[in-house]
Amino acid sequence: MLPDVQKLIELQNADREISRLKDEIAALPKRVAVIEEKLAGTKAVLEKAKAAVKSDEAARRKYETTIQDLQQKISKYRDQSLEVKTNEQYKALLHEIQFAEQEIRINEDKILELMVNAEARDKEVRAAEAELKAEAAEIEKEKAEARQRTAEDEKQLAEWNAKRDAARAGVNPDLLRQYDRVAKYRGSGLSEVRDHKCMACQVMLRPQTYNEVRAATHVVACDSCQRILYHDPSHDQPADPAVVHKRRRAHPKFESGQAWYYRASHGDDGEVFLVFINGKGESSRRIYESGSGRKLGDTLVREGEYRLGFPEDLSDSIRLNGQWEETEIDEWGNELPTSTLDSLQRDLDMARAEAAAPHTHNRREVVHSEHPAAS
Ligand SMILES: [Zn+2]
Repeated sequence: MLPDVQKLIELQNADREISRLKDEIAALPKRVAVIEEKLAGTKAVLEKAKAAVKSDEAARRKYETTIQDLQQKISKYRDQSLEVKTNEQYKALLHEIQFAEQEIRINEDKILELMVNAEARDKEVRAAEAELKAEAAEIEKEKAEARQRTAEDEKQLAEWNAKRDAARAGVNPDLLRQYDRVAKYRGSGLSEVRDHKCMACQVMLRPQTYNEVRAATHVVACDSCQRILYHDPSHDQPADPAVVHKRRRAHPKFESGQAWYYRASHGDDGEVFLVFINGKGESSRRIYESGSGRKLGDTLVREGEYRLGFPEDLSDSIRLNGQWEETEIDEWGNELPTSTLDSLQRDLDMARAEAAAPHTHNRREVVHSEHPAAS
């Protein structure tokens, strides 16, 4: 992978973390505010319930006073009735007394109603008080957590800012401008390529672009979204070694008319794939850039089968699986088809994985040979 792109990946990670931490820091006071609002609501409910109790008590006192007044009136009418001279006057007083007694009953009913209500009012007040207490405790806990979290986030933010600055300092300024420009409009400036696709915009890449990204000799941007593209070979196959081992690699036949090889370098060229084809008393050699699949130089023909004809090409090489008709290979011209390139790359990745993590059978052999008794 290009060092600049590697730095951009670090930068993108830092940018994402910074944005996440900033969002989190901004969200914490909002969470506290939501609970505070709830707390204010509960306070209002409590105040209302208490006010209702007070107004009920006042109303009750008023009814009680009214009853007392009416009782006084009645006793006054009774006294008067003893002194009346006419039957009409007596009847009138009796009527007043009956009316007052009726008024007393109405007021007594109202008091009874208030007493029944008072129980419900008390319950409301007690419930609101309990809720307020719980919410007050919760808000204190939330605030303490928010303070602690904010402090931790800010510490992490400072660290990520330092990482971000370090990553930015290491990237070519033009590339950095492109990254920033795309990131500003699209939220990210970098995208991984997997299965011939830009993972950010999901658009299939042209084979040429795909090969260039894999070759990683220069920076390539997505034609569709303009994000800078990179390819991570470790994502090409399952990371789980158990899964890798299930896909055990077929081993190339030692003697065959056609043989593919990989070399980390070839003369002045970098990584290459070579294909040798044995003919009648002679053999041919074709070389392709392993990243882009571009053919390097002309097809070379030498006397004898390829092991005799091209011995210098076979040292420090990795033998790969691959078998195509020579006429087909000729038809490819100056570039390997993507499917062929992929097949070779995959086999190379598997050969490397196999070398790095030998399966159980091989590992047992390694253990034996390393045992002191074995040597
Ligand atoms: Zn894209």
